[in-house]
Amino acid sequence: MKTRDSINAVKDMIRAPYAWDGYTKVMVMVDGDSMCAACVKDNYRSILRATRDNDRSGWQAYAAEIPWEGAPLQCCACAVDMRGMYAVRGF
Ligand SMILES: [Zn+2]
Repeated sequence: MKTRDSINAVKDMIRAPYAWDGYTKVMVMVDGDSMCAACVKDNYRSILRATRDNDRSGWQAYAAEIPWEGAPLQCCACAVDMRGMYAVRGF
């Protein structure tokens, strides 16, 4: 993934935190953690700066993903269960 693609993924997630069918998008960080849409929005300046500057402070984004299946995913910033967020939406 190129830096520009990662930056676009962050911007896209802020504009559209849910995919077309209501699934919550998850931002996968370079260090392998995942972050929820609300935290991406709250911290987008830090994330965009770290992603642009290849800064390994923990804010560097890699790509947006949709957690289709698997174990519950915890946000690395607020510890919310991101699959739980999906369930709350009634899908
Ligand atoms: Zn969060």
